[in-house]
Amino acid sequence: MRAATPHRVVVVGGGFGGLPATRLLARSKEFEITLIDRRNHHLFQPLLYQVATGILSPGQISPVLRHMLRKRSNVRVVLSEVHGFDLGRRIVRTTAAPGREIEFPYDSLIVAAGAGQSYFGHDEFALIAPGMKTIDDAMELRRRVYGALEIAESLSDDALTRFWMTFVVVGAGATGVELAGQIRELAARSLNRDFRRIDPATVRVILVDGGEEPLTNFGDRLAGRARRELEKMGVELQMGRRVVGVDPDGVDTENAQGDKSRVRAATTIWAAGVQASPLAGMLAESSGASTDRAGRIEVLADLSLPGHPEVFAVGDMASVQELPGVCEVAMQGGLHAANTIKRRLKGRDSLPFTYRDLGSAAAIGRFKSIVSFRGVRLSGLAGWAVWFFVHIGFLNGFGNRASTMVRWFRAMVGHARPERVFSVGHTGGDLSLPDDVKKRIMPHPFPAQAEGPATFAG
Ligand SMILES: Cc1cc2nc3c(=O)[nH]c(=O)nc-3n(C[C@H](O)[C@H](O)[C@H](O)COP(=O)(O)OP(=O)(O)OC[C@H]3O[C@@H](n4cnc5c(N)ncnc54)[C@H](O)[C@@H]3O)c2cc1C
Repeated sequence: MRAATPHRVVVVGGGFGGLPATRLLARSKEFEITLIDRRNHHLFQPLLYQVATGILSPGQISPVLRHMLRKRSNVRVVLSEVHGFDLGRRIVRTTAAPGREIEFPYDSLIVAAGAGQSYFGHDEFALIAPGMKTIDDAMELRRRVYGALEIAESLSDDALTRFWMTFVVVGAGATGVELAGQIRELAARSLNRDFRRIDPATVRVILVDGGEEPLTNFGDRLAGRARRELEKMGVELQMGRRVVGVDPDGVDTENAQGDKSRVRAATTIWAAGVQASPLAGMLAESSGASTDRAGRIEVLADLSLPGHPEVFAVGDMASVQELPGVCEVAMQGGLHAANTIKRRLKGRDSLPFTYRDLGSAAAIGRFKSIVSFRGVRLSGLAGWAVWFFVHIGFLNGFGNRASTMVRWFRAMVGHARPERVFSVGHTGGDLSLPDDVKKRIMPHPFPAQAEGPATFAG
């Protein structure tokens, strides 16, 4: 028998953890779901590097949440930033309209707010070396990569030209490797006829990491393969070196023996380290749970919080059985939390979360990927074929899948980089605009409102 009033579920975050949970619960009219996200879109982070390097447009990897859920009348999508919880009163606190606080009451709560970039205690590096977590990051990197080449083209001094044509990528995990490979590939393959003074094929890309090999989590054999492929593409590897300083002129590194060295480069990209959303710490404080070094909240076996069986934390912000922060863990976690809410409503006990490992994949370059799946290791074209189907399968929306395949064909079989536009107005560009013009075109925030807190008009 259906309950007289629907069970109110608030889901925080429309990413890989929150979206599948919302979709699953939305199938039943027993639930009234409010999905709160501070962005209006779901983001397919694994392909951000292709937005940064000009293969894909932002819209192809970031479908709008409200549109994706338009057919689910029991789901309400709210664009808002969550900044606190009252677990006792079962309230989520957000800021929606500028300057106004709105409270959302719930019967069950799923928090899947993900993770941000970690600069390992050196947040000042962020001003110089942007990370790769959001569409804005990808657009900023696009501006820096293509902008640096424009500046190089306009210079007559050879040393300065080389400086602008040198890129340092910090972190040789999947994101760093994919970015480094793509910058070399776009320079050597796609831009070779676009410039008159510089030769883009001479672009230097230096990949720095404290580990011994790139992509160490794939095991020795695949990591060795990744190293050889990257070197063949012209990426210079500086392994076993920790970054100890970043400034506008370059990067300082240090090896295990304490020997220092410096790379001069105009562009540094940060692809190392993650820090859980601050919401993990807030939930931990309110529930007495602990957090790990990356700020992730330690959840119980069923992904709920101690003393609060109605509250779940999933995805990159939760520490579960030492699992890595990847899409599959977040998706399976979100689905488990949603299923647990359904079970409880039927009067059944919750079950512990069990993870089904579906393997991992990373693209090194054109038709070159490495894949690890339950002891099966693939590389080269075979690895790329698996990478292709996994990424196309996980993208949301038929239109995005079809247009992405067309773009991949144009970029990989052909030489095209059709998405090279960057907006100086959006990013406060520094190429040629006088300061007084820049000030005028920068977007203005919405005017703040004077009224006090409000409750959700649900
Ligand atoms: C560049 C990059 C490449 C990656 N490549 C791979 C890959 O190849 N394979 C793989 O498996 N994984 C990859 N990952 C990791 C994968 O993207 C994450 O594990 C996954 O997105 C985690 O899902 P989540 O739901 O926890 O967080 P997310 O998907 O990040 O979603 C979190 C959501 O919460 C919202 N949010 C955050 N804070 C608030 C707040 N205060 N108020 C309201 N909303 C908020 C955000 O806007 C976001 O929509 C990659 C990650 C990055 C950054």
